[in-house]
Amino acid sequence: MKREVRQREILTLLDRESGVSAGDLAQRFQVSRMTIHRDLRSLLKQGLLLRIQGGAVTKGLVRAATKNHCSACRRRLLPHQCCEILRADGSLDVACCTACGLRQFSVQPAAEQFLVGDQVSGRMLPAEDAYFLVNSLASPCCQPSFLSFASESEVALFQAGFGGSIARLDEALEFLRVAEGLNGT
Ligand SMILES: [Zn+2]
Ligand SMILES: [Zn+2]
Repeated sequence: MKREVRQREILTLLDRESGVSAGDLAQRFQVSRMTIHRDLRSLLKQGLLLRIQGGAVTKGLVRAATKNHCSACRRRLLPHQCCEILRADGSLDVACCTACGLRQFSVQPAAEQFLVGDQVSGRMLPAEDAYFLVNSLASPCCQPSFLSFASESEVALFQAGFGGSIARLDEALEFLRVAEGLNGT
């Protein structure tokens, strides 16, 4: 099979099943894992994949966001600000920013995994480990203003510059509920 054809089929597969392992793909296409990793990197470079998680780990799950638009507001995605919510049925919600990610998560909190992007490095981390800067002067994407960070010292630095308050996941969700008048009263 030609490389281009295989890459196109990999994309289709990743679109349908949000989690497949590099080993699965290698087996399916009868090529080595090295070849699969090369394909994934090439797709990434072409901008056809947004990001790959665990792609370099041989046994790891290849999770790739192939969607281009935010599940909450339909805005076009920018890799650096994305959030991902992996559902129990294997489907993947992607969001353009932390605000939309929290919004999407609060609509349907049953999720296998909720990942937010670290504002500084762009790396993804579990939302329950993140520090959120809420309601600061920064307006990264959608309102209300939320930034997410991996490190407590970095969120403090941003707070010194942009104001706002530091929150963990529960408090950030609560702030969103109040801000959107979704508190059920
Ligand atoms: Zn959005
Ligand atoms: Zn947004």
